[in-house]
Amino acid sequence: MSGIQGGFRCGAVRYTLALDALPRTYACHCRDCQTWSGSAFSQQAFLPEASLVATGPLAEFELTTPSGRVSIQRMCGVCHTRIYNSNSARPGVVVVRAGTLDRSDELDVVAHIWTKRKQPWLKLPDNVPGWTEGAPVAELLQALAPR
Ligand SMILES: [Zn+2]
Repeated sequence: MSGIQGGFRCGAVRYTLALDALPRTYACHCRDCQTWSGSAFSQQAFLPEASLVATGPLAEFELTTPSGRVSIQRMCGVCHTRIYNSNSARPGVVVVRAGTLDRSDELDVVAHIWTKRKQPWLKLPDNVPGWTEGAPVAELLQALAPR
């Protein structure tokens, strides 16, 4: 099977990204990502929705953000691991939880967003772009573009 593969502990859902190389990723330090992951930040990749094919039971959780955007989160229907989400503000784009990729140990984090919510013990490298809140999509995409 070609492409970039991912999945998680229970094995019920697997997914493939139609990419030749691993995507570049960013870290989101916002409070939602902290509480949802139970960790300091989430590590994510921004991808065309058409590049992702998942097999297995997917559960969906839809929420409306305070700004009126609809976010649809997809989880494994068995172990409820978060896999990816889409947002009505960015049609055709999915945000994949990069830690679920089989080759997550090879990923780079090339941008940080919501750094004002960053855990104080975490020191970010000086040469990686960061935004105190959410980054404008065009700027984030530029930071994530393959080099
Ligand atoms: Zn976040």
